[in-house]
Amino acid sequence: MLLSLPKFEYVSCNTIEEACALLSSHQGKAQVMAGGTDLLVKMKHRKVLPDCLINIKRIPQIDYIRYDALKEVRIGTLATIQTLRNSPVIMKNFSILNQAAKVLGTTHVRNLATLGGNLCNASPASECAGPLLALSATVKIMGPQGERRVPVEEFFVQPGKSVLKHDEILTEIQIPKPPPHSGGVHLKYSTRRVDVCIVSASVLLTLDGPKCQDVRISLGAVGPIPFRAKKAENILKGQPLVGDAESVIAKAAQAASDESFPIDDFRGAADFRKELVKRLVAEGIQGAIANARL
Ligand SMILES: Cc1cc2nc3c(=O)[nH]c(=O)nc-3n(C[C@H](O)[C@H](O)[C@H](O)COP(=O)(O)OP(=O)(O)OC[C@H]3O[C@@H](n4cnc5c(N)ncnc54)[C@H](O)[C@@H]3O)c2cc1C
Repeated sequence: MLLSLPKFEYVSCNTIEEACALLSSHQGKAQVMAGGTDLLVKMKHRKVLPDCLINIKRIPQIDYIRYDALKEVRIGTLATIQTLRNSPVIMKNFSILNQAAKVLGTTHVRNLATLGGNLCNASPASECAGPLLALSATVKIMGPQGERRVPVEEFFVQPGKSVLKHDEILTEIQIPKPPPHSGGVHLKYSTRRVDVCIVSASVLLTLDGPKCQDVRISLGAVGPIPFRAKKAENILKGQPLVGDAESVIAKAAQAASDESFPIDDFRGAADFRKELVKRLVAEGIQGAIANARL
């Protein structure tokens, strides 16, 4: 069924300051629009009914990828998913984010959808949240009170809600460069390729010789927010992972499944999702080890 949009006021901003001031003056009744691929769908379904839409897509100061080879990458909130998919910097140095960008939606959606929008939508199934959790990313937020930085791990509060206040805008995602001998894998399971995931898993692992020096595992769509499977990570840390590591990998994958707490919904039953977590995490760890050894 073709649904129409409700009536709303529309303003296009040229600066962040202008957008924050407008958000402030509307006292929670205005909504920021980036690509609109989540927001406009919600408005058509009358799940969100803002009085005013504030288009930030034309603010040039928040659309960039800045790479410092010694340290980090800083990504402006407006970088599209297609840009992340095509970026040689992201492909080479932050591969799990690139892998997530490759499996998000369709080309049409990826051309509009932004990285910031994928986080601010605060869906438990956000494709990019998992890689950013695994990569220890931090977001920069601007509002009338100034600027603050929040680790992605503390950004999500509940489904559809983040720590953003009604007059704040997420402006940048900062990702530290993973140490040498790191490798990662992002896996998405969905019925059709274009669908939002039923389960996703991201694994970023660093080897010290044959041993697991560090590992970060994150899960999507199996809890109210994307989260890290810390018990699974602890099982792997310090363990030799080259050679016969099947049993420790299986133990970690089982722990990740036990840590997940999915619900039954139209996309999949909770038990099915728990089984998927086990399989995706095992596959993710094996892939991450192989990539770390390259
Ligand atoms: C066909 C289809 C397939 C899809 N497949 C996937 C998928 O596989 N995986 C997945 O994760 N998602 C998927 N999506 C959802 C969507 O495309 C992504 O979440 C996208 O990244 C959202 O970005 P956007 O720029 O379009 O956000 P918008 O729709 O513009 O905004 C989303 C929300 O974030 C807020 N917001 C946006 N930017 C900011 C900002 N800088 N500061 C503060 N608030 C902000 C908005 O107010 C709104 O509440 C799909 C959507 C469609 C239509």
